[in-house]
Amino acid sequence: MSGLLPKVELHLHLEGAAPPGFIRGLAAEKKVDIARIFDERGNYAYDDFWHFLKVYEAATEPLKTPEDYHRLTLAVLEESAAAGVIYSETFLSPDFCGGRDLSAWREFLHAIREAADLAERRDGIVLRGIVTPIRHLGPEKAKEVALCAAETAGDWVVGFGLAGDEKSGKPKDFSWAFDAAREAGLRLTAHAGEWGGPESVRDALRDLRVERIGHGVRAIEDLALVDELAERGIVLEVCPGSNIALGLYQDWRSHPIHELRERGVKVTVSTDDPPFFHTTMAREYDRLATAFDWDEGVFDEIAKTSAKAAFCDEKTRENILKKLEKAHA
Ligand SMILES: [Zn+2]
Repeated sequence: MSGLLPKVELHLHLEGAAPPGFIRGLAAEKKVDIARIFDERGNYAYDDFWHFLKVYEAATEPLKTPEDYHRLTLAVLEESAAAGVIYSETFLSPDFCGGRDLSAWREFLHAIREAADLAERRDGIVLRGIVTPIRHLGPEKAKEVALCAAETAGDWVVGFGLAGDEKSGKPKDFSWAFDAAREAGLRLTAHAGEWGGPESVRDALRDLRVERIGHGVRAIEDLALVDELAERGIVLEVCPGSNIALGLYQDWRSHPIHELRERGVKVTVSTDDPPFFHTTMAREYDRLATAFDWDEGVFDEIAKTSAKAAFCDEKTRENILKKLEKAHA
């Protein structure tokens, strides 16, 4: 039912969305041997979250130049548009794009934006960027990433986040980077409440002053926190298929997205790293519809919540909302 419903995605890692065929092809061109990260059917293969992070990093090995990121962006947006996505925000890391060197970062960004413009003309999909340091690389590198983000903040780089291993360090270790990003006018989100519990969500809200939380689903273990999220209108970038693929929840019906929504929390739906989790936005919608009996009205509300929580400028937001209205008229 959901294949063609227009969708708004707020939580997508650009490298994590790389179609495995694209990465295999690029690796062959560049003679980079990463055969170890694929299973016999050519999909990404990993055992658990920490191994997934290693496989993810290996998959980025053939992605070396701005031109590679140009091609990557086109490949990713083609998949997203085919799943009905009309607006997407992607996490980008100067750690992968130019090793935190500002002029190199600008070149990568230029190539990615050019590809995004092409995809917008081709498929109507709109992309914006959220710069993210990698948590397990530590706060010092995060500062350099924040400086890259601040220098390039504007109509396309619209947000700042925190990705990587949630068990590495504390949110407050990154408050300098988040303060710098905030001062540059960037809107803020952070991964929390995925591998860490409710405390991790509280820490991110207090120490990083974010307005959205990446995942945040483990807030469900503390109903006072759930009430606080609902009252403050904090938006959760929920990625159910990712959580289930990584074993955080056993199956779709055990996933807390439905209960969080029932309790008044603003939930949105994203894919995180779709080919790693064998998912797409269309598949997420289908699985959620089956698990919780969600109808088009629920998905319409979720898409509008996502559009309102997007970090883009108001004109872009109005355009997305208009498209959503049209689809449900
Ligand atoms: Zn993520």
